[in-house]
Amino acid sequence: MTYDELLAEYAALRALKVTHEAQLTVLQSKVEELAQELARLKRQSFGVKSERRHGGDKQTGLFAEPEPDAPPPEPEAPPALQRMATPHGRRRPEGQPDEVMAVPAPTSCTRCGGSVREISTSTATRLEWRRGHFVQLQVRRPSCACDQCNNVETAPEPSTFALPRSLAGNGLVARVVVDKFLDNIPLNRQADRFARDGMTISPSTLCDIVRSSAALLGRIVRAVTAEMVTSGWIQTDATGLPILDGSQKTTKSGHLFVFSTPKHVVYHATLTKHGAHIVAFLHGFKGILLADGGSEFNEAVWGLELLRAACWSHARRYFFDAQAESPVLAAEAMALIGVLFDIEREIKDADLETRRRRRDTDTRAALLKIHDWLTRHVQGARPRSAIAKAIQYTLNQWAALALCADHPEIPIHNNTSELRLRQAVTGRKNYLFAGSEGGAASAAILYSLVASCRLHELDPWAYLYEVLGRINDYPATRVIELSPAYVAGAR
Ligand SMILES: [Zn+2]
Repeated sequence: MTYDELLAEYAALRALKVTHEAQLTVLQSKVEELAQELARLKRQSFGVKSERRHGGDKQTGLFAEPEPDAPPPEPEAPPALQRMATPHGRRRPEGQPDEVMAVPAPTSCTRCGGSVREISTSTATRLEWRRGHFVQLQVRRPSCACDQCNNVETAPEPSTFALPRSLAGNGLVARVVVDKFLDNIPLNRQADRFARDGMTISPSTLCDIVRSSAALLGRIVRAVTAEMVTSGWIQTDATGLPILDGSQKTTKSGHLFVFSTPKHVVYHATLTKHGAHIVAFLHGFKGILLADGGSEFNEAVWGLELLRAACWSHARRYFFDAQAESPVLAAEAMALIGVLFDIEREIKDADLETRRRRRDTDTRAALLKIHDWLTRHVQGARPRSAIAKAIQYTLNQWAALALCADHPEIPIHNNTSELRLRQAVTGRKNYLFAGSEGGAASAAILYSLVASCRLHELDPWAYLYEVLGRINDYPATRVIELSPAYVAGAR
């Protein structure tokens, strides 16, 4: 290098130094600002943030619920996972982590079995969420060299992190899922909220978190579905679900189905309302299908030779809508149907034998009166009037509506399904939650788990936090044990 070249390089470096100094000043003030903000947040929160070593010595009950107002249980340490790449989307200043997770060093060389010695440590930061506050969790993985064969390897990241190569700890994953699928907060608004707390996480990173967690948790929902089809009855309903196609410009009129039993809730998204989807979903089912009069269920009922039960709330609504036109007839019909609901209120918490007796006598008698009333008025009703429609619908569905007399185990209405669909699609107004067919499938998986938590009165965040920490190591054949029904039962 010539003298002139050296001078030029020197000048360039001087300029660079000035730039860096300016940047440093900006960053320092930012660090200070964020440190104050962090201190304030820490004062607000209750978590202990002293350094913790995770050696597996602290055991929490498998699915123990955290005490009210107590920090959630700590994740346990090791075994295997893959190398973690640099977290992306994180824009926090480097500083002291809130917690440190030290991965234990391997005791011997995986290649030759020889003794190893620690030569360095690689660190990466996970952003974690514990109730009420963020935690910067530094994961330290030792790199060891073998004394015999010179092999150098770094201890793998613990598999208790649900998502490999992610910036998110399980608590943050659980929070994103709960915010989106329980509280219907769109990912871009979640990103805004995180930014206000000093955490820059892009919507696309949040989207990755949702997609990968759904891919992982999907195995629980598949196990639940397999168990669900062995039950005696399933109730179902469907609603429209706009799905963006690949070009992200036009939407397809997809459908969201909900299937439930007293034990499980499973949502299922499809691109069309075609009956074949339901046949495929219910493959192996041999029981009673409780649904409204929708024709999309016909194929499953015929193809799988199911018994069909119908919804008395649905039938009652037809008479309710006929009140303006035919107040007297509508009131008569609604009073007769009301008797069925009165009986249900009385036997709501009764044992099956009591329910059987009441359904066999009182419900059957009430059904006879309704049928008698319908046949008396079907001729007299003005064609195409609302009351004629109500009578015709009820008579068309009669066998399915009357099935409850012989089957005390099933409800006489499908209100639960309708409620669950409403809960799921509240978010439709805020965002097109199904960005693609895959997005719709992911949404269905996560809605299923959140709704099942609701059914079993589990806190969805606590449930997801626990299950995310265990699913990577859980035996595939027993993954049903991670479903909300089993977790609630194990408590
Ligand atoms: Zn070796």
